[in-house]
Parts: sequence; structure tokens; C-alpha cells
Amino acid sequence: MKKIQSVKGMHDILPDTASKLRVLENLLINTSESFGYDEIRTPILENTDLFTKSIGDGTDIVEKEMYTLSDSKDRLISMRPEGTASCVRAVVENGLQDNINRFWYTGPFFRHERPQKGRYRQFHQFGVELFGISSPEADFEVLNIIVSIFKNLKMKSPKILINSIGDIEDRNKYTTVLVEYLNKYKNDLDKNHLLKLERNPLRILDSKDEKVAEIISNAPSISQFISKDAKEHFEETLLLLDKDNIKYEISGNLVRGLDYYNKTVFEITDGENNTQNTICAGGRYDYLFETLGQKSTPAVGFAIGLERFLSYVMDNIENYKSILIYMICLDQKFKFHAISASDIIRNCESNIRVVNDFNYSNLKSQLKKANKLSADLSVIIGSEEVDSDSILIKSMDTGDQEKIGMSEIGNYFKKEY
Ligand code: ATP
Ligand code: MG
Repeated sequence: MKKIQSVKGMHDILPDTASKLRVLENLLINTSESFGYDEIRTPILENTDLFTKSIGDGTDIVEKEMYTLSDSKDRLISMRPEGTASCVRAVVENGLQDNINRFWYTGPFFRHERPQKGRYRQFHQFGVELFGISSPEADFEVLNIIVSIFKNLKMKSPKILINSIGDIEDRNKYTTVLVEYLNKYKNDLDKNHLLKLERNPLRILDSKDEKVAEIISNAPSISQFISKDAKEHFEETLLLLDKDNIKYEISGNLVRGLDYYNKTVFEITDGENNTQNTICAGGRYDYLFETLGQKSTPAVGFAIGLERFLSYVMDNIENYKSILIYMICLDQKFKFHAISASDIIRNCESNIRVVNDFNYSNLKSQLKKANKLSADLSVIIGSEEVDSDSILIKSMDTGDQEKIGMSEIGNYFKKEY
């Protein structure tokens, strides 16, 4: 038989992980909503130029990671590689630009990267975007959401790596100086880095290559080039963090791999020493609306990579607790009794799950299946139960059995569970 398999780098999320992911997503949603953020859902497909214009030429995403196809009219469309540009487009297109907008989103994103642990071609992000507030309080707010997420997970606060990359003019000035510095090391740079040096030198600061990282560690720092306004903005953001006892570390070479950021940028890593260690990344992007030809609107946000975040916080995720009942029916002719008993039980409490065995094998083999599913109870329906309009409840733990009249089921489950 021909093997059928998923597309390289795309993976299934099976029930065990999916249920944990859902618990995590609910926690992220509830935390963001407690700050007044609302959900936004944007399409998977967008016109390609939305991403090329916003994320920027010379970035890894635009240069080699996008899934792009042309439609029947030869228009280029891409599967979204990130969420921010789509949120900006949605705000503009739906006439929401004059409001203060606080959004959260969660869903799949697509990047054609080399698959490895923590790096997939379809992955999931949870993110928030805050549009319309230019003051440092907005930067503080999104960082405070992240810290609250960790608090709600009952985990100790993460180490926030933070930097200011100034405004566009500051970056231009700095870029000239950086290129001068890097030109001295041209012989040590590979083809990929030389291309970056030519097209988008700041990206080199983001390099995961060890040799390049060493060169960078002695490079002039962007902090010497940022304007008074950007500096004050940064200091005020840090002061707000200090006052709220939020720990951070200033990381002078942090720039982020997308073009649209300005002023504050930040990252949280899982502490591992590998190239997939960033679990959350974000910053301010006051120029993105303008870059897309729209009215200038200040903005700040972050995105969490859910696969990486889940494996980082796995031990702190408490599974949703429910009582699992396996409905054993000993003969197909008793099916009406079994189905109606199942419905009555399901309606007793919201945390009860009833699974029907519709194969009608013998009692022993159905009990085996109940055990395999780790059922808490099984309910057995045979001729005696049908004749006396009752059910037989069996504890899978102790083996104790109890006969309950159909009309007593509601009371029984309210009392016992
Ligand atoms: P990286 O440096 O790891 O490539 P990035 O800078 O490309 O990350 P962002 O665009 O900032 O990542 O995306 C935010 C988060 O999404 C990342 O911090 C990471 O947790 C997650 N992420 C990004 N790309 C992938 C991927 N291919 N597979 C899984 N998670 C990803
Ligand atoms: Mg990347």
C-alpha cells in the first residue's frame, strides 16, 4: 500500500498535546482579555505585497520563507508568515484606524524553513497588538501581559531581553557606522552574510552564526545613536518596568528579524543554547501603517511561538479535569436505553464525558476498552437494566457496582460528582 504522509515540516497535533495546547491558549486568551484585548481573525491568505512591503526585502521571511502562489489571474498571494501585517491591513480596511485597538489572535502561520525541533513549516502563534498609543505605557502594557501570563501559569517571571533600536533616522546613521565596521571583517563572512551586509546590514546583528556573533560583540552599539526622544521613551519604559518589579536585561545587539520595528524591541528565550530558543518576540512599530501607505498610527505588540512555549511550560499546564464514563451495552437491541441513559448523564454536569461502545462485544472485552481509555466509571446496560428501567454503574477503580433507576440518574451524578 502506498504510504500517505504529511507535507515536510507540517505536523499533526494529536489529542494529548492538543488538549494541553487548548488549556494554554485559554490561559493566554483570558490573560489578554483581562487587559481589554479582543479577538481578531484574519485570513490565512493575503496579497503577497502586504508582507513584502511590511516585513521588508532582505529579511529571511520575504527572501526565502514565504509560501507564495499565483491565482488564476496571476496575482501573487501568500500564506501568512506572521500576524502583525494582517492586523494592520484589517484595521485599515475595516475603518477602525481612528480607534484605540487592542487585539489578540491565535492560529497557524507558515514559513518554508529547514524543519528541526522548535522550527516547523506550519507553526502556531498567539499574539497581541495595541494600536493608537505612542506613550511608553503601551510598551509597558504588552510586557505586563507577558509577565501576567507567566504569573497565571504559576511560573517565575521570565527574563525579558530588551533594547531600543531608535527611530528610522537613528537606524540609518547607525547602519552606516555598522557597515564601516563590518567591512573590516568581510573575509570572515559567508555568502549569506555578505548579501545581508549589502541589502540589510542590521539583520547581521540578528545572526545565529557563532563566528559572526563574536564579530558583532565588538561592534558599535545602536544605543549610542538613538535620538533624545527614543532614549527618553526607552528610559520611561524601563522605569515603568522597574516600578512594577518586572525584571529585564538590556541587550544591546537585539534588533529582531523584521523591518518594521522601531524604538522598543524585546525577546524572551527558553534559556537553551540553540537557534530555536526564542519563545516570545515583539516591539514597537510606529512606521508600519505609513509603510503600507496609510495614516501614521503608533503600534506595539508581541507574538509567542506556541509549539516552543508549550514545551517550555508543559509541566505547569494542568489538564482539564473531567469524569470519563464508558457506556457498555451488551446487545444492540438495548441501544435506545443506552443512548438515552448517555444523554441523561451528559446533561447532569458539564465535566462528564460519556463514550458509547457501539460494537456490542461481550462484557469482558468492553470493560477492557474502558480500562484502556482510563475511564473512571463504566455504565452497563443488559436485559435486567432495560426491564427495570435502570443502569448499573461500576467503578473502574474499586470494582464496586450500584444499580440506579433512570429517574434517579440526575440526583446521583449531582450528589456524587
Ligand atoms: P527565529 O529567530 O527563531 O527564527 P523569528 O525572529 O523568525 O524567530 P518571529 O517572526 O519574531 O520569529 O516569530 C515569533 C515567534 O514565533 C518566535 O519567537 C518563535 O517562538 C515562533 N516561530 C517563528 N518561526 C517559527 C517556526 N518556523 N516554527 C516554530 N515556531 C516559530
Ligand atoms: Mg525566523
